[in-house]
Amino acid sequence: MRLRLWTTLFLVTIAQVAWGQTSTNPKLVNAEATSHEPSASGYSVIGATPEQEALVRAQIRTMQPDVNPLRVLFVPHWKYMDTARTFHLHVPAGYTSAMFTHLPSRSVFIDSDRYVSDDSLGYWVAHELGHLAANSVSENAADKAAREYRKRLKDARKPDVLLRGFVTRSKLVS
Ligand SMILES: [Zn+2]
Repeated sequence: MRLRLWTTLFLVTIAQVAWGQTSTNPKLVNAEATSHEPSASGYSVIGATPEQEALVRAQIRTMQPDVNPLRVLFVPHWKYMDTARTFHLHVPAGYTSAMFTHLPSRSVFIDSDRYVSDDSLGYWVAHELGHLAANSVSENAADKAAREYRKRLKDARKPDVLLRGFVTRSKLVS
């Protein structure tokens, strides 16, 4: 119940930011101070299970995005659709429909009812981070920026391969 109340307050706040377009909006500062404090990594993860939060933080750390989100929100499907409507966002029926980014508030919304797998989470979060890096709603611009992030995610899995002895030492230092 508290979470729902807070979520409503939050949505009202970011709606105000969206209209006001200013990061120094005192209402936003107040809301931040009385709700989730961003962690040391500089952003909040809200509504996730501890496992999901640990995973998405590790993935974002690995991707080293040019622009961090301010918050990553895992929301149930009805809330996801509701939020999209609030922002007058078109949620495409196709591949990107499990998450979207609200650029003015640097908020990434993830439909937690459509959570498929850990790998696909990283893959699509890369796309959302691409929107932030490009500061653009263009899907092409987001995918272009996401390419490097996806590569870093892929490279980060290589230590597993190393442990199994499939990569030679010379490859390690090249
Ligand atoms: Zn997109």
